[in-house]
Amino acid sequence: MTAPSVFGAHLIGGEWIDSGPTAVSDNPARPDEPVGEYRLGDSATAGDAISAAVDARAVWASTPFGARARILERIASLMEARAEEIATLCTLEEGKTIAESRGEAALAAETFRFHAGMSKTSTERIFPSPTPGETIRTVRAPLGVVGVITPWNFPIQIPAWKIAPALAAGNCVVWKPASNTPLTAAAIARVFDDAGLPAGVVNLVLGPGSMGNAIVTDERVDGVTFTGSVPVGFGIRDAVTARNGRVQLELGGHNPALVFDDTDFAVSIPALVAGAMGATGQKCTATRRIIAVGNVYDELVERLAEAVRGLSVGDGMHEGVGIGPLVSPGAATEVAEGLAAAKAEGAEVVATTESAPDGGCFFAPTLLAGGTDLTIAHEEIFGPISTVMRVDTEDGAFALANDTEFGLSASIFTNDLWRIDRAVHELQAGVIKVNAPTTGTELHAPFGGEKASSGHAAREQGDTAVDFFTRTRTAYIRPGTAR
Ligand code: NDP
Repeated sequence: MTAPSVFGAHLIGGEWIDSGPTAVSDNPARPDEPVGEYRLGDSATAGDAISAAVDARAVWASTPFGARARILERIASLMEARAEEIATLCTLEEGKTIAESRGEAALAAETFRFHAGMSKTSTERIFPSPTPGETIRTVRAPLGVVGVITPWNFPIQIPAWKIAPALAAGNCVVWKPASNTPLTAAAIARVFDDAGLPAGVVNLVLGPGSMGNAIVTDERVDGVTFTGSVPVGFGIRDAVTARNGRVQLELGGHNPALVFDDTDFAVSIPALVAGAMGATGQKCTATRRIIAVGNVYDELVERLAEAVRGLSVGDGMHEGVGIGPLVSPGAATEVAEGLAAAKAEGAEVVATTESAPDGGCFFAPTLLAGGTDLTIAHEEIFGPISTVMRVDTEDGAFALANDTEFGLSASIFTNDLWRIDRAVHELQAGVIKVNAPTTGTELHAPFGGEKASSGHAAREQGDTAVDFFTRTRTAYIRPGTAR
């Protein structure tokens, strides 16, 4: 199939649908230089994509796992071959640095390779039976048609985390990426198409959130996996569970990092700054609260301030830039309003990055100091702002860390093994890091949150990813003849 001249077309049933109204994809670093155009779908487009997925379901589910794995491996190789093209689109549309985008492309390729390998391992179990001759065995069936709704902050990796295990388990996919990164998504869909996925197995639809809603409410979609904001996620949860579908949510966080006085600053300062400000603070796992315990406070604040002041903010396409712009003018307004509100409530600005360009979607990373009375100490602002808070005791630090509706990630910086053991057991977070940033996970280990950060469905990534994308059936098998 020849790729369309307009990058951002829909891929439905193996055809590139290059017609209909268009929309522009903007570059947050260069507002006057749009990245390109894409076709704008609607509910009918989503319906067509779901029909194509339903039609492809039986063929893909009955394709032997080895053949499915070979296609996933081809996707991985093609993604590596086109990593520079995909990474460049990601930086132009999302704003993150080209180094971050290249890393994302490499890890997305690796995710497909990992799930190709995983599909060759058994997920079945055998149980003892009290009946002579009987075997009790669980088998896995694909869920069917899966709706994949993804955000803009990891426009390469998050789709890979969801689509690779969905395909490995024999599902067909209808994928709706975020409106901020449609051309990155289209480039990834071209990889799927060129790697030889049968028509209809992955369908890409580009368009607004309302089109996503058409996927969520369609009875033919057996499950929806979503990463994004809490209100949209909870709305999706209600709509999908109301029709008895399956839903997987990865939502926000308000992630704490606890710093004790035995910390080695050579370890903790870079980890805290990377966790708070990396990817312009637009990670669900970003460090939003830095909890300094006792006497470490003064020196910690001083060293953090120096590091934050020295960050380099600029166009992500320029080598050497460490922090790109925020994703959109709307995001920049929201983050600026969050900072203004924090200041009005009495937050002290400890440091801001000096190199941040004026205008556009650029925003200077900002370190605040304050207490739990600040709204920003509880509510997620999706940008490079972090608040240092002081507590006097270890008990107080753990209580403060858990005093949030979220539970995605948490870090602790200490060398005390008892404290580390306590953190691993008592911090209410799906990801716990010891002497490492709250951000960054490995694709072969389970990922997900607690409380309002995730739904109750199975974890993403690693060998647990298959749980969401399959139905478990328990078979009781007896000989057909009497002994
Ligand atoms: P949203 O939750 O609005 O968007 C995430 C995805 O859901 C996008 O593909 C979006 O499409 C789609 N969507 C929007 N509305 C619906 C709907 N009613 N039904 C189905 N799908 C829908 O996040 P935003 O991009 O607007 O970001 C807003 C905030 O969300 C951020 O400031 C941050 O707090 C949080 N966020 C969290 C992320 C995380 O990793 N947990 C990632 C991104 C954002 P479209 O883009 O077309 O609107």
